[in-house]
Amino acid sequence: MQLVVDSLNKRYANGVHALSNVSLTIGRGLFGLLGPNGAGKSSLMRTLATLQDADSGSVRFGDVDVLKDKHTVRTMLGYLPQEFGVYPKTSAEELLNHLAVLKGFTVRRERKAMVDYLLDKVNLFEKRKHAVSSFSGGMRQRFGIAQCLIGDPKLVIVDEPTAGLDPGERNRFYNILSEIGEQVVVILSTHIVQDVRELCNEMAIMDRGMVVYSGTTDEALTMIRGRVFERRIEKSDVDTISQHHAVISSKLVGGKPLIHVFADAAPSGFVPAEETLEDVFFAKLNNLV
Ligand code: ADP
Repeated sequence: MQLVVDSLNKRYANGVHALSNVSLTIGRGLFGLLGPNGAGKSSLMRTLATLQDADSGSVRFGDVDVLKDKHTVRTMLGYLPQEFGVYPKTSAEELLNHLAVLKGFTVRRERKAMVDYLLDKVNLFEKRKHAVSSFSGGMRQRFGIAQCLIGDPKLVIVDEPTAGLDPGERNRFYNILSEIGEQVVVILSTHIVQDVRELCNEMAIMDRGMVVYSGTTDEALTMIRGRVFERRIEKSDVDTISQHHAVISSKLVGGKPLIHVFADAAPSGFVPAEETLEDVFFAKLNNLV
């Protein structure tokens, strides 16, 4: 099933145009939605999750009109918001059971089987008797995924899921997400380029409410191939270089800035660099491509 977003617009009461003619087609698998803070990602996620209305435009998921038929969408949706809210002292097992009751799973035995299955899927079965409030950030996010999978959703939306996770937890979370992505549509909203690089085949980049790129991660890299150059410089030279070149990024490697610039041919002192999704991201945000 495909999710088709067409010319979506949203302006908040304070005048911020958070979504500006957003159009995207998203199929099965993990779709990465990249953008800096304030780009409009959460506004889009909340609209797709039926938590907020758009001013105009349409969204269809298969045959379902997402903006009108909210009830049907909710039966097909799993949503992990940025803030999962309060974490009660209740055990993971009890809380998941309770959330399943709220989602309409009234047959006790079936519910128990589902809760056990989900806890196992997110590697929390051993910890099922522990209070969710005692969980680490990574465990909470995995619990969040378990609750979002109640009822076998066809559309899963996760908003900034890996913020604050250590590398081990992040990997565990990635593995669970990519497994889910084999069966259903998963939209992963993030400002962490690495999340998208590691997980997603298809992606979009948003900036100031607009989609500035959508396509495969490979196509995104092809777009800038051969036009990214790098050079290690002294910290004191950063400003001068920035004045004369289209700097995409600057990061410290071994204490010295490694600068990536965008150009048609290698500027003096620069060597070709292997292009990364991060370069695409910054090149797009700076209108270089
Ligand atoms: P992102 O998730 O990419 O950080 P958001 O969708 O949260 O972006 O925000 C997009 C823009 O809309 C930002 O400028 C933000 O300040 C603004 N915004 C978000 N929610 C509201 C709201 N409820 N009322 C007013 N402005 C909002």
